[in-house]
Amino acid sequence: MMSDKNKYKVDEKGMYGRFGGAFIPEMLQPNIENLKNVYLDIINSDAFQKEYKSLLKDYVGRPSPLYFAKRLSEKYDTNIYLKREDLNHTGAHKVNNTVGQILIAKHMGKDRIIAETGAGQHGVATATACALMGLRCVVYMGEIDIKRQAPNVARMKMLGAEVVAATSGSKTLKDATNEALRDWICNPEDTFYLIGSVVGPHPYPDMVARLQAIISEEIAWQIKEKTSKDYPDYVVACVGGGSNAAGSFYHFMDDERVNLIAVEASGMGVDSGETAATIALGDLGVIHGSKTFLMQSDDGQITEPYSISAGLDYPGIGPLHAHLHDTKRASILSATDQDALDSAMELTQLEGIIPALESSHALAVLKKKKFKKNDSVVITLSGRGDKDMETYMKHFGF
Ligand SMILES: *Cc1c(COP(=O)(O)O)cnc(C)c1O
Repeated sequence: MMSDKNKYKVDEKGMYGRFGGAFIPEMLQPNIENLKNVYLDIINSDAFQKEYKSLLKDYVGRPSPLYFAKRLSEKYDTNIYLKREDLNHTGAHKVNNTVGQILIAKHMGKDRIIAETGAGQHGVATATACALMGLRCVVYMGEIDIKRQAPNVARMKMLGAEVVAATSGSKTLKDATNEALRDWICNPEDTFYLIGSVVGPHPYPDMVARLQAIISEEIAWQIKEKTSKDYPDYVVACVGGGSNAAGSFYHFMDDERVNLIAVEASGMGVDSGETAATIALGDLGVIHGSKTFLMQSDDGQITEPYSISAGLDYPGIGPLHAHLHDTKRASILSATDQDALDSAMELTQLEGIIPALESSHALAVLKKKKFKKNDSVVITLSGRGDKDMETYMKHFGF
């Protein structure tokens, strides 16, 4: 029987309620078993914690500030705090996870890292951590994505990674994933597969959530320092796969006083056919080795997602978030491209912070929900907007 306290944590079988698990080809079983058997012992060891915390502090630049956004708060007549993951080294939350998994790989004696990437953000965060540790790095990327994301491809190469084009199928993320899995099957001895969000077969969703949990660990003490209460009334984050949201929620999941809101990207609109609103549209299925909600056609083909923000355009959602939705522990809202653009401009002009397009979806909550005057609302700013300037220029006509 699951204790009440761990209602939202993964169980021994790798399930979050009816979601999660490890639906993988038999040839991958040994790799996954091996990781599953060691990851908790490594993460909980003193040696890992010491090195991880030290790198988070001096390399990533943590703790990231919890910033009281005064002018934004005045406008919405509530108290808005921004969790500044945009100030991390490399400009987003992804590095918390890649630095952590690189250390796990090192503890397992692996010296070759593989990853897949869509827009290139996870590829860059992975190549960064590999350069830091002097490990070999191979990043699989769809041929079309390589053309679309030239600056990130250049960053990865400069960081010493080998970028391999996936040339099959739609030549995008899911084809890159297939190539990475094939590589892992062929190289079980020396290779560690580094996944970028709370997705994939167990234990990845739990492992990545634990590595991103530093976000809520910091929010908990930071909010206490800044307000008269030791918890926020709301925590809000955007969801692609769900890692910055999982990290922002982690230490509050069992505290029902804290309302959790995840915002997914509805692109041109939930019913437009050009969307990534997985919870709004999705049904149960298996994607990337995990049972969860995903967007699929009537005959069970995964639908190509769309969002203005490359980091949110994923056709599934992590099993933890499917469970948080199923149990009504979290509310899942959605924001369109236009909502995100409006919120990006608003934050920039009221606070002097240019947010990533992904994070702008979380900010759009302010236009969708009325908060009370005394509420403290923490919104995770998952990344900075430098990478999105081209999109902003196009849409705002600069
Ligand atoms: C990748 C990315 C996301 C989406 O990923 P999650 O796993 O859902 O957090 C959100 N924001 C930024 C800035 C990103 O780079």
